[in-house]
Formats: sequence, C-alpha cells, structure tokens
Amino acid sequence: MVITYHYIRNAERALSVERFKRQLDCISDYAILTFDDGFKDHYETVFPILKERNLKGIFFPCRYEGQEILNVHKIHLLLWEFGDKIYEDIGHEIKRRTGLYKYDTDKIAKIKQLLNYELPFEEATEIIDKLFNKLNPPEIYMTQDQIKEMSDYGMIFGGHTKTHRVLSRLTPEEQREECDLTLIKQITNQSDIPFCYPYGHHHTYTKETIDILKDLGYSRAYTVGKTYNGQFEIPRLDTNEV
Ligand SMILES: [Zn+2]
Repeated sequence: MVITYHYIRNAERALSVERFKRQLDCISDYAILTFDDGFKDHYETVFPILKERNLKGIFFPCRYEGQEILNVHKIHLLLWEFGDKIYEDIGHEIKRRTGLYKYDTDKIAKIKQLLNYELPFEEATEIIDKLFNKLNPPEIYMTQDQIKEMSDYGMIFGGHTKTHRVLSRLTPEEQREECDLTLIKQITNQSDIPFCYPYGHHHTYTKETIDILKDLGYSRAYTVGKTYNGQFEIPRLDTNEV
C-alpha cells in the first residue's frame, strides 16, 4: 500500500499533525509513504517525525524555495485566503474571456477543474496571477539544502515535473523537458529515482509519457489510480482514504 500526502500542518483543508501521527501509528509498518509537491511542511514537520520513528519517505518536489509558486499551489493559497469567494471573480473572468461554462454545486471542485484542466494553460495562468497579486504569498517550498539534508539522512526523492502541468497535453519534447531529472540527481546522488505523475489520474499521462520516463532513466512511477499496471503505473491511496 502506497499513501499520498500533500500539506501536513494545523490549518484548514490540510492534514493535521496529530492526524498524521495517528495514521502512522496504524499504517507505518506496511505502507509506503509518499509526499508530493516539495512543501516546507515536509522538511519542518514530516522529516522530524519520520526520523523519530525511524521511517523512510519518498518525496516528490517540483519547485524549490525562491522559485515562483506553481499555478496548482497558487489556487490552494487563494482558496485558503479567500475561500470560494474567488469563485465569482474567476467565473467572471472565464465568462468574459470565453463566454463558456455553466457553474454548478461544488464550487471549489469546479474552480480546480477549470483552472487545472479545462482552460488552456496560458489563460489559466493569467487568471490565477491576476487574483494572486492580491495575496502576499508565503514561501511554501523546501530549499535545495533541506532536500540534501533529508536525502543524506536516507529519505528518497523523485521527479514530479518542473511546472506540474498535465503531461498528456504536452508534446513529447515538452514532456521530456518537464521530466528532466538532472537536478534531483545532482542534489541527492540517488541512482534509483522514482516519478510521480502530476494530478496522477489516468487521463493525465499517456503510453508515450511512460516511454519517455523509462528512457530518461526513472525506476518506477506512481499514479493516483486504483490498479497496478506495471512499475510505471503504481497506484496510491490518498491520505483521506486511509
Ligand atoms: Zn503534485
């Protein structure tokens, strides 16, 4: 069993530290723990807890401290700060630009779906940035030094692309560039490097993506699917499903 974690902090819409510890009490003997997106939480909160319990984790950062926050995380920060009040702003912008989309019940799901999948990447980026400029964004990613420290201690790092885009929408050349593993190799000295698909649903990657990952030298890849389809489609459970 492989478990997926994202934010671990005592904040709304995140897994609390207490709940994380309680989960570890129950599952750490048989579960593989994976942590997506390179959040500071993983160094500041998760790393000490894993050390204390002599556990290993696999971490999948995209960006590092000092780099621009990714769209997918800007959306989270906007939702935390403004709740679904941004829905109207976004709806307004989308309507103005496209004349499309009817909105229904689950507002937040709809926002994520629109911005992550439905709108063209450039369009989504403009809308997110227009709203994001209202925020005074915190630093959310780990530093490369922190990753090195965790790696030296025995934690495993893997690829998760550079910009967390939907790979199946990109050309093979763009996918290759996104999945480049030079930096991970440099920071960690690992020879065995796993990959984790952004979003991870079956429609977010293709057979070609798998070929590219193999060609680049990744050892295996994790989805958020339910079924095992070989070493490049290893399913994971979300922490909320545990
Ligand atoms: Zn991710």
